[in-house]
Amino acid sequence: MAIDYKLKLFNTLSKKKEDFVPIQTGKASMYLCGPTVYDRATIGNFRTYIFGDILNRVLKYNDYDVKYVQNITDVGHLTDDADQGEDKMEKGSRKAGKSAREVAEEFTQLYFEDSAKLNIERPTVSCKATEHIKEQIEMIEELEKKGFTYKTSDGIYFDTSKQPDYGALAHLDKAGLQEGARVGVNTEKRNITDFALWKFSPKDEQRHMEWESPWGMGFPGWHIECSAMSIKYLGQPFDLHAGGMDLLPVHHTNEVAQNEAIYGHKTVNYWLHGGFILVDGKKMGKSLGNAYTLDDIAKEEFNNLVFRYLTFTAHYRQELNFTWESLSQAGSALSKLYKIVGSFLNNKPDNTISDEWSSRFLEAVNDDLNIPKAIAVVWEMIRDKNTPETLKLSTLYKFDEILGLDIEKNAKNYAQLIAKIPESIKQIKEDRDIARQNKDWKKSDELRDELESKGYEVEDAQDGTKVLPKINL
Ligand code: AMP
Ligand code: ZN
Repeated sequence: MAIDYKLKLFNTLSKKKEDFVPIQTGKASMYLCGPTVYDRATIGNFRTYIFGDILNRVLKYNDYDVKYVQNITDVGHLTDDADQGEDKMEKGSRKAGKSAREVAEEFTQLYFEDSAKLNIERPTVSCKATEHIKEQIEMIEELEKKGFTYKTSDGIYFDTSKQPDYGALAHLDKAGLQEGARVGVNTEKRNITDFALWKFSPKDEQRHMEWESPWGMGFPGWHIECSAMSIKYLGQPFDLHAGGMDLLPVHHTNEVAQNEAIYGHKTVNYWLHGGFILVDGKKMGKSLGNAYTLDDIAKEEFNNLVFRYLTFTAHYRQELNFTWESLSQAGSALSKLYKIVGSFLNNKPDNTISDEWSSRFLEAVNDDLNIPKAIAVVWEMIRDKNTPETLKLSTLYKFDEILGLDIEKNAKNYAQLIAKIPESIKQIKEDRDIARQNKDWKKSDELRDELESKGYEVEDAQDGTKVLPKINL
C-alpha cells in the first residue's frame, strides 16, 4: 500500500481525521488559546502549549507559511464557566498585594521565559486582551444589532436560544444541560448556556481593570476576547484553532456562537483539542498541591526539555499521566539520545538527509501529529546498523526542527565532555582492562566503583570497556 504523507488532522467538528486543506495555498493560519496571567503556568498548561508548538512546527515542516496567533488573557474573567465566582486576575492581585496590571506583566514575562525553556517557539502575534478592548466592544455591538444579546442587572448576555445549532462543535446535550441546571445560579439568565459578553463593574467596589463602554463601566467576557483577536489578526474564515480539551464545551462553543452569529457561516475550518495531564492518575489542581510548574521540575534536577520529551510519549489527544517516575524515565531516554548522538560526532554530518527515514518520520508526524510514532522512528534509525552515522546526524538535525530537543547542541556538549576525559580517568580504565584480562574480578569491580564515584559510567562492550561521562537530565 502506498504511504500517505499528506498532513491529516483530527477535526473536532467532524470527529474525524481529515486532510489538511488550507484556505490559501501554501499558507496556514492558526490560533491557540493562551494563558490567563494571574499565576504561573503549570506543566498541564504547558502540555497544551507544546502541542500548539508541535502543530506550528509540523505545518512549517510541511512548507506552510504559518501565521500563528496566541492571546494573553490579562483581563480578569470569572473563576467558573457560568460567569459566576471570583475574578482570577483581581484575586491574584489581591493575593500578591499588587495591581492587576503588575501581576499580569509579571506572569506574562514568566510565561515567555518558561516557554523558551521548553523550546516553544514564539507565536507570530501574541496579543493581550487589555489592548483589544475596542475590538471586543465593537463585536458585542454587532451582536446587539443582530439581536443576539440581552441585558441583566450584572451584564450583557448572549442569548444562545437564538442559535439553532448552538453547541454543535462540542455535540452538547442542550436539553440535558437545561434540566441539570442548578437552582439559584444567575436566575436572570434566560438559558443555562447563555454567557456574558460584558460585565458591569460592581457599584460598591473599585475594580483594578475596568473600561467605559456603551453599556457603562465594566469589563469584557472571556470568550469575546478570543473571537475578536483571532479574527482581527487572521481574518475569517481561518484555518486552525487549537486549545485544551476543557475549553471545548464552553469557551470554544461560545467563540463559535459569537462568530457565526455575526458572520452567518463557519469561521474556523479545523478545531484541534489536546488531552489533559493527570498527576499520579488524578486531576491536577492548585488546591491538591500537584499543580507543578517548571520550577518544581528544576528542583528535582530535571532539565526542562525532559518534560518536553515526556509529552512526546503520548499522542496529544490522549491523557498523559505525569509521575516523577515517568519524568525520570524520560530523562534517561533523553540523556541516552544525547550520548549516542554525541558519540557520532567524530563524523561530520553531511548535508544529505536519509530518504527512507525522513519519509517514515514525515508519515508519523503528518498522521495527526503522531509524535510517539515519530520518536520510535528516531530510535530505530539511531540503532540501525545499515545507516551511516553521518547520515543519521544530518537527518536527526532535520527532525529536530519539529522535536525541538536541541539535539545538535546537547550532542556537541556531550562530545566535548568525552574529549575532556582526564588522563587519570583513562588510566583507571586501562588498569581495569588489565584486571579483567587477568580475571581479577574483585579489582575490576573496585575500579568500576571508583570510576562511577567520579561521575563516569562504565559499559562493558565487546570491543573493550567504554568509560563515558554521566549526564543526568
Ligand atoms: P487556563 O490558564 O486555565 O485558561 O489554561 C490555559 C490552557 O491550558 C488551556 O488551553 C487549557 O486547556 C490548558 N490546560 C489547563 N490545565 C491543563 C492540564 N491539566 N493538562 C493539559 N492542558 C491544560
Ligand atoms: Zn480562547
